[in-house]
Amino acid sequence: MEHSPDFLRAILDSVSETIVVIDEAGTIQYVNRAWRDYGENNDACIPGDHWQTLNYLAACDKASAMGDEFGAGAAEGIRSVVSGRRPEFYLEYPCHSPDEKRWFMMRVAPLQLNEGSYFVIVHQNITERKLAEEKVSALARIDGLTGIANRRAFDEFLHEEVRRCMRLGKPVSMAIVDLDHFKLLNDTFGHQVGDDTLRRVASLLQETVNRPSDTCARYGGEEFALIWGDTSLEQARQLANQFLRNLTEAKILNLHSPTGKYLTASIGLTSIIPTSDSDMEKLIRQADNMLYEAKANGRNRIEP
Ligand code: GH3
Ligand code: MG
Ligand code: MG
Repeated sequence: MEHSPDFLRAILDSVSETIVVIDEAGTIQYVNRAWRDYGENNDACIPGDHWQTLNYLAACDKASAMGDEFGAGAAEGIRSVVSGRRPEFYLEYPCHSPDEKRWFMMRVAPLQLNEGSYFVIVHQNITERKLAEEKVSALARIDGLTGIANRRAFDEFLHEEVRRCMRLGKPVSMAIVDLDHFKLLNDTFGHQVGDDTLRRVASLLQETVNRPSDTCARYGGEEFALIWGDTSLEQARQLANQFLRNLTEAKILNLHSPTGKYLTASIGLTSIIPTSDSDMEKLIRQADNMLYEAKANGRNRIEP
């Protein structure tokens, strides 16, 4: 039974992975049913018809020439197996359709038969795993209490924005916001009210970040940090001022605070036009020093 070609073909046609066998030149020698079905139902990524004349490597090269980095990676990987530089090759790549996200992985392995060398390329749909990974990665960047970005996301964003503004020769401004006498608010009304207040403050701060180049994050306990890309110190000061006004208008009671019976905040600002040796740590340190000044100068203010 296992020597019957029909039997073996039926097995290959029963698996959900799409299987393609190519020769050393990339010409397709065999495809299984999953590949044919996929090709019929999806215009992108896999051409279904005329597979007998299709050259897999040429298709990857064509995608690569159109700027598809995964096409380039696939072509390079397949060639490395064909030339024997690598025993096998593995690649995960996106292939999104207009209405759904999809990822696949391809695995390329050599197949030596009496009459020549072939290469088996197996594609497997890994969308479910990728979506789960995306979710976990997004969650790892969100502060659990307030739902805004956390410090890790902030650091990454700052890095990206500094690089972007360096390319554009534009200023990037950042602020560290620290609530005044927040311990007293906790002591007076309890931790639960403190937590609700942090959520409230987070949403007020979010009103000051409106562009894709801006972000607002919870930086630590009752400290927040903001980035405004392509924004001067003066413009940043106006945004920070607007936040302080909104906070005052929110009239969040902090009864025993020496700065007044409503919750206030102190803000340290800094702004640079980044160069290749701009130092993120230094930028954050500068904003922190300014925050220290704002506290020392009486709180409920912005420095400089
Ligand atoms: P200052 O004006 O000098 O900043 O005074 P402060 O009381 O705000 O500063 P301090 O650093 O002495 O205290 C910070 C307080 O923030 C103490 C801590 O209990 C509170 N806090 C930090 N994280 C949380 C949180 O997640 N929830 C609540 N409810 N309170 C928090
Ligand atoms: Mg603090
Ligand atoms: Mg504080």
